[in-house]
Amino acid sequence: MSDLVIYIVIAVAVVALGVAVWFGLVAGRRGRDVTAPPEPSTVEAPEAPAEEAAPAAPVLERPAPAAGRLERLRARLARSQSTLGRGLLAVLSRDRLDESTWEEIENALLTADVGVAPTQELVDQLRSRLRVEGGSADPAVAQTALREELVRLADPTMDRSLGVEGAHGQPGVVLVVGVNGTGKTTLVARIARMLVAEDKSVLLGAADTFRAAAVEQLATWGQRVGVETVRGPEGGDPASVGFDTVKRGIDEGIDTVLVDTAGRLHTKAGLMDELGKVKRVIEKQAPITEVLLVIDATTGQNGLTQARVFAEVVDVTGIALTKLDGTAKGGIVIQVQRELGVPVKLVGLGEGADDMAPFEPETFVDALLGD
Ligand code: GDP
Repeated sequence: MSDLVIYIVIAVAVVALGVAVWFGLVAGRRGRDVTAPPEPSTVEAPEAPAEEAAPAAPVLERPAPAAGRLERLRARLARSQSTLGRGLLAVLSRDRLDESTWEEIENALLTADVGVAPTQELVDQLRSRLRVEGGSADPAVAQTALREELVRLADPTMDRSLGVEGAHGQPGVVLVVGVNGTGKTTLVARIARMLVAEDKSVLLGAADTFRAAAVEQLATWGQRVGVETVRGPEGGDPASVGFDTVKRGIDEGIDTVLVDTAGRLHTKAGLMDELGKVKRVIEKQAPITEVLLVIDATTGQNGLTQARVFAEVVDVTGIALTKLDGTAKGGIVIQVQRELGVPVKLVGLGEGADDMAPFEPETFVDALLGD
């Protein structure tokens, strides 16, 4: 009897095991069916963080030094400006230099935004130097005279050094101002790169708190060369960002602090309030060593009008003329310096990270004349 019970128990166990195995297989297959589609994602999942982790240790860029940059970028300048230079040389080399020739020269200079007074001066100088009314000028003599007179108008005697050094152990403080879209943020980043190339420590202040994209752009540019950016809350007080940046610069013994500002040219009074406050608040910490006004060379007379407004609001100490690669109106360099009595210190010649150079009158004129 007990043997029978044992047999029955064994038989039930075998059947139960069989059923269990069968269910297991089916369930297993079903389970795989269910999980089949996400399989790739379970494979990919561990890779995703690995990919994200990669930029955590970025390789810092080593920017090109500023010295000799204009020479390197000269081809770009020559490409955009050569119509003026070659045109002038061609006219001056004609068989007859009569009244209509001088008018042509005047028009070419005015079209290139040299400005009325400098154009008149240049023509008068050339006329008296070449003294060949109705006759022809020796092309070589004409070229030399034109080159010298253009260089004189671009004024090589102006001090074009950037005020990036502070006194008494304080950082140099550079305030960058100008209308939005002129290339302000790009310029701040480019100056930072130039200073990093000179082994200077730099801190950026994103005081254009009204444009989150500008703040982000500046911080990203900075990161590429290992430079930090101080930012405030979106729409926050630009002056307090300026203050915090300079304070941190002093605390950390930074060489140069660069502050990007908001360029909302809503009303002159509004601009004055905002920029005036940024300046006052910063100067509670350390003197501002350079106020750079950024002007987009492609905007011509409009750019000049804006420049006048800014110059009334803050003491501009230098001009950065951007986008000279995109216009044949390079004469604006001469006009803007004359108008504001402030030297052009930097020129922008492209969209690349290092497409900015210290301005040099002789190299500029040589590029203009396609020399
Ligand atoms: P912001 O609004 O004044 O800060 O101007 P951004 O720095 O954002 O620049 C506006 C646009 O101008 C961007 O697309 C820049 O790449 C471009 N830009 C800036 N400088 C130059 C330059 O020298 N040449 C050219 N071609 N583009 C430039």
